[in-house]
Amino acid sequence: MSNMPHRTIHLFRKGLRLHDNPTLLAALESSEVVYPVYILDRKFLMSAINIGTLRWHFLLQSLEDLQRNLTKLGSCLLVIQGDYESVLRDHVQKWNITQVTLDTEIEPFYKEMEQTIKVLGAKMGFDVLSLVGHTLYDVRRILDMNGGTPPLTYKRFLHILSVLGDPDMPVRNLTAEDFQRCQPPPELGQGERYLAPHPEDLDLPQESQSPWQGGETEGLKRLEQHLKNQGWVANFTKPKTVPNSLLPSTTGLSPYFSLGCLSVRSFFYRLSNIYAQSKNHSLPPVSLQGQLLWREFFYTVASATPNFTKMVGNPICLQINWYQDEERLNKWRMAQTGFPWIDAIMTQLHQEGWIHHLARHAVACFLTRGDLWISWEEGMKVFEEMLLDADYSINAGNWMWLSASAFFHQYTRIFCPVRFGKRTDPEGQYIRKYLPVLTNFPSKYIYEPWTAPEEAQKQAGCIIGQDYPLPMVNHKEASDRNLQLMKQVREEQYGTAQLTRDDTDDPMEMGLKRELSEENLKKGKRARNREET
Ligand code: FAD
Repeated sequence: MSNMPHRTIHLFRKGLRLHDNPTLLAALESSEVVYPVYILDRKFLMSAINIGTLRWHFLLQSLEDLQRNLTKLGSCLLVIQGDYESVLRDHVQKWNITQVTLDTEIEPFYKEMEQTIKVLGAKMGFDVLSLVGHTLYDVRRILDMNGGTPPLTYKRFLHILSVLGDPDMPVRNLTAEDFQRCQPPPELGQGERYLAPHPEDLDLPQESQSPWQGGETEGLKRLEQHLKNQGWVANFTKPKTVPNSLLPSTTGLSPYFSLGCLSVRSFFYRLSNIYAQSKNHSLPPVSLQGQLLWREFFYTVASATPNFTKMVGNPICLQINWYQDEERLNKWRMAQTGFPWIDAIMTQLHQEGWIHHLARHAVACFLTRGDLWISWEEGMKVFEEMLLDADYSINAGNWMWLSASAFFHQYTRIFCPVRFGKRTDPEGQYIRKYLPVLTNFPSKYIYEPWTAPEEAQKQAGCIIGQDYPLPMVNHKEASDRNLQLMKQVREEQYGTAQLTRDDTDDPMEMGLKRELSEENLKKGKRARNREET
């Protein structure tokens, strides 16, 4: 490698941001000219990922935002459509490129892309520099520290991290000076040719209905708003957040982390600062930093597990004979199960592209081990298409969790599609918002409208079985039967079932249980005190 400054293409894939972007910073520091490029290779993207309309909108908005922010700093974003290999080949020649920089990613399809670019580099004579920007750690270090394999429980994972120490600090935000040190790309004046396409160009509806607006600017705005509320941040306890609040009861930042519009390292350290100023703060697995560590955990396991997004050939996943039932799957997908709680969640997913973690629990359990006994892979694909935060590692990891195929072991606990939502929203406001057809039902019936007398249905202006479906299963019978099936599978595949087992891992139950028992203890004490006085 020569010491001459490079002529560099910085290739954005995720990492659509200018704060804490170590790879772009390294590109600027080693180059005389940097071309910031996003190759919109629809064929590649669509073969690797199932992207639905809302996700496309979010991506295009994020590109536009990046374009604006780079322009403000005297540079630009060149969005080029086409097959990534030919686009790169053409532009490496045209611009006399000596270096391509890109973030390291762990997904097999992105790894393959990096490999292809390296081969191209060897042929055409350019260097490839890839640095970690999307996770807190270089997950390869975690694997090394664990003897070359992924730690399969969160507890073990935290232990490895305690040996590794804190993640690297975020790098400084990029400024106009960073860009001025290099020549601007000569294409700067031809911005028009390189704009992000409009939704219509991709045959998408013009406007997205989602309340989530893509891009680093919006992500940072939301992040700052949350961080102002230091008490909330310090005491954040995931199991106490509410799945059916009308606005997110958690941060709602996942879509921004997913595309790298926000840096997890920056967020991690901002949280550390708040924790340092608080007398008490919550801890993993239930704290906010604990949530980021769950993300890291799934990235680590996914990076070294073959067929992580599949059941067959996946060594940590129970092999289950799930039913194949297109009709039932479709009812679940299209919010037609007849259980308002489940259907309201699926409607929110369709309309907004985001649902709360516990809402994800509810619909995932219902589809798999709870009621329908349909494969988690089917559910994962639907989430992949619809969720703005859809993510290779986190999506598959959580679907395996919820279906008790890996990680989760308290499989006898099945969520009830009637009682679950009632706990936090007895009036059913959430259901009324997303299923307006049920809006006039009295609260008493809103979670199980089929139990309402005919007169009440008439008064509500909604006849069950006609205007809204009857429940597609008898929950009690279905869940009892499925529980027996699951018991049998786990006995037969005891070895696999034990691989990822650690009861202390459960973030939704253990933390809460501990606190509840502490609360009960206190209450007990208070009660005793009262008796005593
Ligand atoms: P917060 O509670 O505010 O957490 C902050 C951040 O921590 C999140 O933005 C996310 O990056 C990370 N995080 C939180 N919970 C988890 C978790 N359980 N596992 C890993 N990381 C977590 N999350 C995704 O980002 N992409 C997915 O594709 C995805 N699929 C899921 C599928 C199922 C079946 C389930 C049960 C959960 C899934 N999750 C997924 C995890 C989780 O539900 C979301 O990350 C979370 O609800 C996002 O909301 P938030 O940003 O308000 O989270």
